Amino acid sequence: MTTKTNILTDSFYRKHTYLRISLTERCNLRCTYCMPAEGSVLSPKEHIMTADEIYNIAKTFVKNGVTKIRLTGGEPLVRKDAISILEKLASLPVEIGITTNAVIVDKFIPTFKRLNIKLINVSLDSLDAGKFEQITRRNYFKKVYDNIILLVKEGFAVKLNAVLIKDFNDNEIINFIELTKNININIRFIEFMPFDGNQWNIKKMVSYQEIMAVVHDYFNNKNVIRLEDAQHDTSKNYKIKGYQGSFAIISSVTNPFCDSCNRLRLTANGHLKNCLFSATEQNLLSAYRKGDNVEHLIQKAIQGKFKVRGGMDTLQKLQEPKLHSKNRSMINIGG
Ligand code: SF4
Repeated sequence: MTTKTNILTDSFYRKHTYLRISLTERCNLRCTYCMPAEGSVLSPKEHIMTADEIYNIAKTFVKNGVTKIRLTGGEPLVRKDAISILEKLASLPVEIGITTNAVIVDKFIPTFKRLNIKLINVSLDSLDAGKFEQITRRNYFKKVYDNIILLVKEGFAVKLNAVLIKDFNDNEIINFIELTKNININIRFIEFMPFDGNQWNIKKMVSYQEIMAVVHDYFNNKNVIRLEDAQHDTSKNYKIKGYQGSFAIISSVTNPFCDSCNRLRLTANGHLKNCLFSATEQNLLSAYRKGDNVEHLIQKAIQGKFKVRGGMDTLQKLQEPKLHSKNRSMINIGG
């Protein structure tokens, strides 16, 4: 298969081989930093990509060089035709991953195994049931926790994503890492990022440096092993000596990793975002429904990509509400 790489390569020679597709704007949780308190305005149903549209648009990306697709949401598994979408995408020559809140993931384990889907990222911001309910506005902690353990037991490669917020769950860093003592899981601490409606403030963010200070203080430097990061990795990876699992930090705010970015995002209503922070999008779905070839729109989106964080290349710019409020809320991007 010849790969026409140019449309996926931006003006900084970054090749975009990883497509994150949001299947839905709906979710069965209401996380405070993701979903605006008043709920998010859902796109009309007819504006959401159908299973066939997701498959055909994804096929165009794969034909041009995409090798990995991650399904996100909202919560991707609440979509009624999620299994049919998984089956269609699994027929493409790509690695498939899922980002889920794990509330109903147990129901999909047979499907994942049948389709050889192994990469499961789970969002969990607290190991405390009370705090879980506070941040998600739902009391599903036990269900989620049991499902995480089940996924690990069933042999899936599980990454646990925790957004750290100061004076809320930053006192759980050690508890999360202690989870890796006897469980082969990768805990990823995420610096809190600004998105529309999430009341972000840099004072609420727990930085990479602050997290590592807590880790070194508790485990002592000699027990903290720096692991090699994979190519295009968004996280800096570590392991505690003798522990089965590992932990990592995604430092988009204090230490962005845009140089090796290979990620694109397709929203549930078929808009292509060339960056998590980009305020501009290309509407692939409308063009696709008109029968147009969407490759030129894909190329246009990628050629318009900024080097760093959608143009917010300094912390000062990132703190500029006028800039980051032009973006969508996280629920409508899918992380
Ligand atoms: S901020 Fe944008 S450019 Fe940077 S790594 Fe994330 S998606 Fe890529």
